[in-house]
Amino acid sequence: MPAPANPRIAVLGFSIECNKFAPPATKAHFAARTYLEGEAILDEARRPTPTMLPETPGFVAAMDAAAPWTPIGVVLAMSEPNGPVEHGFFEEVVDTMTGRLKAAMPVDGVYFCAHGAAITTEEDDPEGVMFERIRDIVGPDVPVVATFDLHANVSDRMVDNIDAFIGYRTNPHLDMRERGKEAAAVLGELLAGTRTERVRIRLPIVPPTVTLLTAAGPYAEMIELGQSKMNPAIMNVSVMGGFAYADTPKNGLSVIVTARGDRSAAASLAAEIAQYGWEQRERFYPKLTSLDDAVQKALAAAHDPSLKPLAFADVADNPGGGGRGNTMYLLRAFVEAGVKRALFGVIYDPPLAAEAHRHGLHYNFDAHFNREETTNFSEPWTAPARVRALHDGNCVGRRGIYAGTRLALGPCAALVIGGITVVVVSHRVQCADPIFFEMMGIDIGKARAVVVKSRGHFRGGFDEFFGPDQIVEVDLPGLTSPMLSRFEWTRLPRPVIPLDDNVSWSPPAL
Ligand SMILES: [Zn+2]
Repeated sequence: MPAPANPRIAVLGFSIECNKFAPPATKAHFAARTYLEGEAILDEARRPTPTMLPETPGFVAAMDAAAPWTPIGVVLAMSEPNGPVEHGFFEEVVDTMTGRLKAAMPVDGVYFCAHGAAITTEEDDPEGVMFERIRDIVGPDVPVVATFDLHANVSDRMVDNIDAFIGYRTNPHLDMRERGKEAAAVLGELLAGTRTERVRIRLPIVPPTVTLLTAAGPYAEMIELGQSKMNPAIMNVSVMGGFAYADTPKNGLSVIVTARGDRSAAASLAAEIAQYGWEQRERFYPKLTSLDDAVQKALAAAHDPSLKPLAFADVADNPGGGGRGNTMYLLRAFVEAGVKRALFGVIYDPPLAAEAHRHGLHYNFDAHFNREETTNFSEPWTAPARVRALHDGNCVGRRGIYAGTRLALGPCAALVIGGITVVVVSHRVQCADPIFFEMMGIDIGKARAVVVKSRGHFRGGFDEFFGPDQIVEVDLPGLTSPMLSRFEWTRLPRPVIPLDDNVSWSPPAL
């Protein structure tokens, strides 16, 4: 069957990673990052520095380059990771999506930019709901292609209602644009008549985030195994690590294989990769550094020039996983221990940033952290500070996941507290890009210790300064602690690794 000339393709998306233990995400959180309807989606996707993550721009660029097409922007809602989406707003997005899609019919194909770890205050599987509604509208024969973050929690409802499942393969996520381009190539093939079979296998393993790196480790090996087995029958292999803190029944390390019409090829490859992952199950337990040891390492780095400088990751307060980016455990300990030549970024504290702007450069004052923000972990703390630098927070990401993305951090201030320079921002964001220090005039190369509130994406941004052997993941309290036994889970499938003993699994019958 020849592909339709000038195909009409619906472009839409809903992308957020939700931490059930964090305060809810509202429409304002999406508006602050990306909320677009209609033609505006295409306009923004084609800008040199779009606000949205790069999958949609990659998809649009590849479609533009391939052949004439008629894109139809529907709705694209994208937010920084946060708490569960307020269900009323989710329903509003679904209404907008279905209304606009119905009005656009007939369409020849659909591209959906998903994250895969969304929850709402009432729904565990928002992506499944949306894909089902889209399938209802377009019917069984119109191809639907979706891209996913590798932290997606995957349900059968999601897999059954789309034609191709395309997940990121790198963590830090450096292949977002490439996966968008892959989605365009896959859609082209589906428009020409290829039909797919998808098979999903889920393991009873909910991997702590720090065990999901793709440079090395058990998860990297599963992804590599999948890629090494690509053959003409297989369209895509996605190994999804999932996002524990969504706390849903669909959580669990999952393998999703999309095959060109051959279900047995998809099933046997998915089973082989799942079996390999299961054999690695003892490697999905986190190993972190205690706060005391972290302080000693920072003191040693400051005093002994023969040692390499270190990056300390506050993995338990990662805004990229719904953390508030404002816990004080590490900053307070470093200041009290007299750590010097250190940088600390980025603390989310709008009132403090505003106060620093009111005072102006070089002003000395008592910095009151967390005078407003309220979670169990966001304790107030006060320290004498000097304003070193001020900035409006508008920047373009330089490296890693934010490279080329336009970002607005709101009013920012660099405060000197003891021997540490602390960057304070007004929009919550994970410290994954060196630009957040550099825009304040700070030279990262001169620091002996850099603390980042980020779980892993800082690795893709700060790799110019810190190799894997210079990274210290610190064990602290917080909304994104990799020590999963510290949370009150209510929806996770049990028993599950790493929470329970005597977890068993055997491959499903093919
Ligand atoms: Zn992710």
